[in-house]
Parts: sequence; structure tokens; C-alpha cells
Amino acid sequence: MKVAFIGTGSMGGSMSRNLAAAGIDITVFDLNSESMKKPIAAGAKAAQSGVECVSGADVLITMLPTPQAIEGCMVASGVAAAMKPGSMWIDMSTSVPETAAIVEKSLDQTVRIIDAPVAGMSVGADKGTMSIFAGGDPADFAYAKPLFDIMGDPEKFFNCGKRGTGYAVKLVLNMLWFNSFVATTEALLLGVKAGVDLETLRQSLVGSPCNSILLERDILGMLKDGDYDEGFAVALACKDLRLAGDLARSVGVPMEVGATVENVYRRARARYGDKAGEMIPAKMYEDDTNTPLRFK
Ligand code: NAD
Repeated sequence: MKVAFIGTGSMGGSMSRNLAAAGIDITVFDLNSESMKKPIAAGAKAAQSGVECVSGADVLITMLPTPQAIEGCMVASGVAAAMKPGSMWIDMSTSVPETAAIVEKSLDQTVRIIDAPVAGMSVGADKGTMSIFAGGDPADFAYAKPLFDIMGDPEKFFNCGKRGTGYAVKLVLNMLWFNSFVATTEALLLGVKAGVDLETLRQSLVGSPCNSILLERDILGMLKDGDYDEGFAVALACKDLRLAGDLARSVGVPMEVGATVENVYRRARARYGDKAGEMIPAKMYEDDTNTPLRFK
């Protein structure tokens, strides 16, 4: 199986490196050639363009930042039109079915399509332990499963249903994570300001009905080292919250908490910049109250 991989940034760089390291015949392309170094060092071939990358490939994996980038790469740059008849496009970006539908118009009708966004942060991409949420035809999942099992945890591969459901699950889970993150930040700040030691507070919450993976694991880098996770840029978090809001509007679901959290994220992005990490809203709370959330 010949694989093409476009978008070797924070996530795609590690994912394509893991595929190359597992012996997969893989060619990579990214507009930023620096970012291709990681997979190339593991044996991937480098292409000079997206069209060259996909030439003769049986499977194309895209891991691009936004729906606009996917459309730009696949339609405007001609990648979709260059795909081999009978091949497969797997979009692992956090995106929406509307963009896939636009791309589909430029694909040969025999090209099969799966949406397979991921979760697990950049560390999950690095270690090959990501969760994968796939929407599409089960026969196509079976064909691509050996690739998914290299990039992600085989136990955390989810058949979400028909095409588009993988995108939907990813948007729902990110919105829930961002909502929980802002709520957790407020809760920790409240307890600390009320005089409780931060680690005592965290451990008490872990031992309570309010426990979460966030409290147990995801937030530790921030509480220990002030790491706001630049592996996932706040600009992309804002993109995901906007897409979740768009989805909520299109299906007619009120999303009051999500809308508030989106505003918190947009305010943090305006203050600290696009490249700040996904946990940067906590720094805004810390700065506003002059209370760093750090273990002693
Ligand atoms: P990133 O910005 O680090 O990487 C994206 C890469 O795409 C960049 O290297 C960029 O140069 C490249 N690119 C953009 N347009 C291109 C084009 N037209 N042709 C070729 N290359 C192009 O982003 P990331 O953090 O790796 O995220 C990628 C996707 O995965 C996003 O949809 C994001 O929402 C999602 N995601 C990210 C994380 C995370 O923790 N970073 C976790 C889960 C999902």
C-alpha cells in the first residue's frame, strides 16, 4: 500500500513519522518544509507539492489545520483531481462534512472517503496512542485499519457511523473538553483563593464525584510547570469551538455554555496570540486574579 500524507505539523509530523517507522511506503508534503524533517528522518519520501505527493498513492491522509486549508490543498492546489481512481482519502483533520462535500466534487467518483479525526493531544500523536473517530463505510475502515493501528491505540478506534459522524464526534468532544477546562480552571481558582492548597484541592476533587481525566492527567503539565500545551494552538481551539457552534446552529441545539466558553477562548487568543496553547485561558484567569495555579 502506497500512502501519501499531507500536513506534517504538530500532529501530522508524528503520525507520518510513526507510519514511516513501521515500514509503510509513505510520501509526505507540507507547505512548511521544516516540518517534514521528522517523517523524513524515519524513512518517508519528501514531495515538492501536494500533487506530486499523491501521485500513484493508494491512500491519501490529510492532517490540515482548518476547513479552508483542506479546500485550498485539495481543490485549489489540484490534489483531489490528481488522486488515483479507486484510491482512498482519509481526512484526519478536525473539520466538517460540508468541506468534504466540496472536495468530493473534484475527486474521481471511485475514490473512497473516510473522515477520521483524532484525540489525544500531540503527545498521543507522538506515542501512537491517539483515539480515532471514523465516519464512513466499515469495509473502508477495514482496509485502512492497519494504518489506524499504527497511528492510534487499536482499542480506541471508534466506528461512529456514516460519513461525517467522525467529524461530529470530534467537535462534540472538543467542545466538552474546552467547557470542562474553563469550568475546572474557575473551580481551582475559587478553592485556592478560599485558602486551600492547590494539590490538596486537586486530590480532593479527584477523589470526589467531580473526578475527570482532565484533573487526573491533562491539567498536570500546567499545574506543575506552567505548560499551557502549545502543541495545540489556541487559534485551532477557537476554530473547533466555532465549528461546534456552527453545527449547533445548523441542527437547532441551544449551546449556552459552549458559546460562553468560545468567548473566553477568543478573549485569551486576542490577549496571548494565535500560537499560545489550548490551556492559555487559564493564564488569563491567573493574570486577572494575580494567582498562578502552580503546585508549591
Ligand atoms: P499544525 O498547524 O501544527 O499543522 C498543520 C500543518 O498543515 C502545518 O505544518 C501547515 O504548514 C500545513 N498546511 C497548511 N495548509 C497546507 C496546504 N495547503 N498544503 C500542505 N500543508 C499545509 O496543526 P496540528 O496541531 O497538527 O493540527 C492538525 C489538525 O489536527 C487540526 O485540524 C487540529 O484541529 C487537529 N487536532 C490537533 C490536535 C493537537 O493537539 N495539536 C489534537 C487533535 C486534533
